[in-house]
Amino acid sequence: MDKEKEEVILVVMRKANQPSYFDDDLTGTCSKCEQEVIYRPHNPKGAIKVCFDCATKGDLLKKYKIGITDRTASELRDYFLSSLAKGKN
Ligand SMILES: [Zn+2]
Repeated sequence: MDKEKEEVILVVMRKANQPSYFDDDLTGTCSKCEQEVIYRPHNPKGAIKVCFDCATKGDLLKKYKIGITDRTASELRDYFLSSLAKGKN
């Protein structure tokens, strides 16, 4: 595997038939299975987008890093804290 390939980031997304957590979620296509998926609008540039199922098959996770932006991490943190406060978990 060449150096450039190691830098490519994998963004794991949910399938579009699952509930969306955020009003501004976008829909797209998994680059492996071409299933419709949901993702956050501000992914790392150049990231490969795949669904959870594809991420856990084969050796994708051995080849690529999972990328998440600081903004998405912050949004997820707020969502989880809000869910805990509401007693949904
Ligand atoms: Zn997929």
